[in-house]
Amino acid sequence: MADKILTGISVATGIAIGKAFFINRNHKAHLPRQIVAASLVPREIDKLHEAFTAVESELSATREHVPAELKDYGLLIETHILMLKDPKLSGAAADYIKTLGLNAAWALEKAVSDQEDAFGAINDPYIRERMQDVRVVADKVQAKLIGKETDLTGMSGRAIIMAHDLTPADTVELQVDKIMGFATVCGGKTSHTGIMARSLGIPALVGADRLEDSVRDGDLVVIDGLSGKIVVNPTEAELEDYNERAAFFEEYSRKIKRQCQLPAETFDGSRVQVMANIELVEEVASVIDNGGEGIGLYRTEYAYLNRTDLPDEEELAEKYIDLASVMSPRKVVFRSLDLGADKFISAYGELNETNPAMGLRAIRFCLKNPQLFKIQLRAILRASAYGNVSLMFPMISGVKEVRQAKAWLAQAKAELRREGVAYDPDMPVGIMIELPAAVMIAEYLAHEVDFFSIGTNDLIQYSIGVDRTNHHVSYLYQPLHPATLRMIKLVVDAAHQAGIEVSLCGEVASDPFCVPILLGMGIDSISLTPQAIPGIKRIIRQTNMHDCRNLLNEVLACRTVSRINNLVMENIFKYFPDEVTFFTSLLENDEAAS
Ligand code: PEP
Ligand code: MG
Repeated sequence: MADKILTGISVATGIAIGKAFFINRNHKAHLPRQIVAASLVPREIDKLHEAFTAVESELSATREHVPAELKDYGLLIETHILMLKDPKLSGAAADYIKTLGLNAAWALEKAVSDQEDAFGAINDPYIRERMQDVRVVADKVQAKLIGKETDLTGMSGRAIIMAHDLTPADTVELQVDKIMGFATVCGGKTSHTGIMARSLGIPALVGADRLEDSVRDGDLVVIDGLSGKIVVNPTEAELEDYNERAAFFEEYSRKIKRQCQLPAETFDGSRVQVMANIELVEEVASVIDNGGEGIGLYRTEYAYLNRTDLPDEEELAEKYIDLASVMSPRKVVFRSLDLGADKFISAYGELNETNPAMGLRAIRFCLKNPQLFKIQLRAILRASAYGNVSLMFPMISGVKEVRQAKAWLAQAKAELRREGVAYDPDMPVGIMIELPAAVMIAEYLAHEVDFFSIGTNDLIQYSIGVDRTNHHVSYLYQPLHPATLRMIKLVVDAAHQAGIEVSLCGEVASDPFCVPILLGMGIDSISLTPQAIPGIKRIIRQTNMHDCRNLLNEVLACRTVSRINNLVMENIFKYFPDEVTFFTSLLENDEAAS
């Protein structure tokens, strides 16, 4: 048996086998706390300033080499450099060395704690983010002071990066071509670590609780981003098995990648559009490379996060026009800002809600802040003159909200028209169906818009009552729950009855077990993470609508998730014998997560 097998949440698929290299170990427990002799105080203060300067010059060097995939994170490094230059933190720490005779690392710890105490009570996301940045910067200085800084020169070749947490700045420092995979203690499905790993196309696991106690630098580790496992020092036999699995996965990925530009057409000639979900405009290359036929969901809020100011119309328009032009004539669906819940922008402060997931988020937030909303609507409209652009509103709960949102859009159009600025007057407008209320009135909503896009991530959360980020209840997060399937069917039928198209852009669209059922329902398009597109297109190309409709009828007659799961599994193994190894790994992942 391997020394240890740890479990985590897979945020990017694939298998990496290599030596572990730790950065950002949580060194707080080992922070030396000593009183220095009065005669040594000046030297200790010098040491403190030297450590600040050294970290600052390291970050300045890093800033010069931000790779294209992580360009948006360059600003964060800039912020950290400014903090190191600001004498407030180093000055407060130097005072503790002078007045109490504390060693430099301890003095800095006290200076940071003072700031956390002073600002911790203020419930403002901007201040909270800045405090986290202060902590990141101080950690680096302390690591330098106690000789525990990440010695990147120690990373001679490619390695698997292990960390308590991983900031985008850390990744940039590491030279992305040397990273074979990631594993971290912190982070969830939607954390930066996951987004970065997917952008870089390497396997990654987050939420691996026991990582720091169980893995040492140089240990041979397997990151299994298919089954959600980290195997520490595997036996010969385990290693052989993983080498085989990795080789299989690589071969499988190569095979499906070769076919990914082919249309997603079933044996019996039904076409489904397979589009991509993106968070950053930089992901476009990956969309095209993986055979994405358009962008079915652009999560525009990411361009508002990780910064202290708000983007203005010019900045947004430039970004959006670039995206629309590069993708043209392919479709790009812009989703208007889905802020709130766990995604706050500093400039608006936090709302202090007891239950933010049910609070002022998404379209509700935009309707309450029309100035912000209109700037974005104008930018999207301007982009519509350069490509095949659609717009959709998230978290719609009723007809009135749609009408209000469309009224702001009409106003933005009127302004542009008066100003002589070009836009597409017929830009399609849709809504996301992600609340049970919207499902129940889908037939009314269908008459208000040009298309629907079903957001199953939230729809499952709000219908089964399970927080999508809470691992304690993740076993309840069931895409194949009879209620979920019935709701999707209801929405698809209502859309088609009204003669509009319906797409699905939640994670369900990248689940090979669910896709045949969606086909059976007659979904017009799906939108998923770019890396999953080749596999899903292959599934579609290997199936036929007749079987999918039969499967749908069978699952709709089932009363329990387990019965549906069994049926779906039988179907997968019957129709996709080549994929059995791949699917078995995915099933292990589901079991590990529950
Ligand atoms: C969804 O809710 O399914 C969805 C696609 O939106 P997001 O994951 O951005 O909330
Ligand atoms: Mg959603």
